[in-house]
Amino acid sequence: MSPPTPVAHDSAQGPESAHFLPIPSTKPQIVFVDTLENTQNIAKWDLWSSPALSSGEWHPSRTSPPFEVRSIENKGMGMVASRAIKAGELVISEMPTFVIRGTLEEPDLKQGIIHSAAWDLLAPERREALLSLANSFAPEDQAHVPGTHSTNWYHSSITERVEPDHALDVHSLYETLSRANHTCSPNVQYSFHWDIFSGQFHALRDIEAGEEISIQYWALLVDWEERQKDLVDHFRFSCTCGPCSLTGEARAQSDKRRTFLSDLADPPFEYGFSAAVLEDLRRALNGDTVPSISGEGTSPEETLAKVKQGLQYAEEENILAHIPRMQLWSAALLVQLGRKEEAKEWALKGRDGIIRVEGDDSYNAKYFAKVVRDAFE
Ligand SMILES: [Zn+2]
Repeated sequence: MSPPTPVAHDSAQGPESAHFLPIPSTKPQIVFVDTLENTQNIAKWDLWSSPALSSGEWHPSRTSPPFEVRSIENKGMGMVASRAIKAGELVISEMPTFVIRGTLEEPDLKQGIIHSAAWDLLAPERREALLSLANSFAPEDQAHVPGTHSTNWYHSSITERVEPDHALDVHSLYETLSRANHTCSPNVQYSFHWDIFSGQFHALRDIEAGEEISIQYWALLVDWEERQKDLVDHFRFSCTCGPCSLTGEARAQSDKRRTFLSDLADPPFEYGFSAAVLEDLRRALNGDTVPSISGEGTSPEETLAKVKQGLQYAEEENILAHIPRMQLWSAALLVQLGRKEEAKEWALKGRDGIIRVEGDDSYNAKYFAKVVRDAFE
């Protein structure tokens, strides 16, 4: 099989403008859109020589996934569990079909000219699958292809660093992952696995057969009003999930818990893993005083009480992907307070939590586990 080769977009103005990289070179399953240099680097990845890619084995439809994609009342298509799924179970692992650098600047992007030209390079069934994804934007708002992109994209990171540099972020479209609908209390978490260049969902809790598999599209740690506004602005729908259906005092309580969680950290955190918290823990174990653990002008005791309250709220709101980070934060605070045995207990909970959220082979989970092992074992 000949190695993948970048192709310049028709109107490309030099190496910084859009170049396409269809992979593999015959019957392409993925197409990248990036600068010349980046596409040349991506073309060299060992991953593309894997026999699984050309045989199409990587595609989730070739395995027996624990869900089906079907139409859901008032939501278009969605993913529904076809059997019971256990907390921590891998629900799907999928390579994106279309990947575009978020920082690429091209006058043709808005009209969808770049997208269409890139999709035309794909094998016909891959191109058809992308064209069949939902577009929640009106034609006058966004033409077909960029509308489909805006409705369905995920972040992926072309980096191995623990906290990805967002300049390295790309937007990806997946044929199956992009079918998942939004909820404000997700039962799965998306994570991107750089080494296999695949997006995955892991179950955050036990999921029953027949239950919809849903993710978060946007910020969860904001009140009902702001969540509705965000989702209408970015995705053109109003959310009718469990927490969004609450009224009166119940809604006020939910808003209070989410706002509390948002105020807990500065900047507010959204998702479970944090290299900064790990680094704080590591330094505290070295005997350093680390003011960032408890925050400016606050004692570790006060902060610990707040984090424990946050843990309870996150469980009550079913925002489970955030929990490992708070558990690890508790561990760092307990080290600072000289309570190392309790700290170990919380660090292990945090480690097991991140493994549940991302799988034990994820870069983050392995890194997390190493810091905890070096510290306590
Ligand atoms: Zn909602």
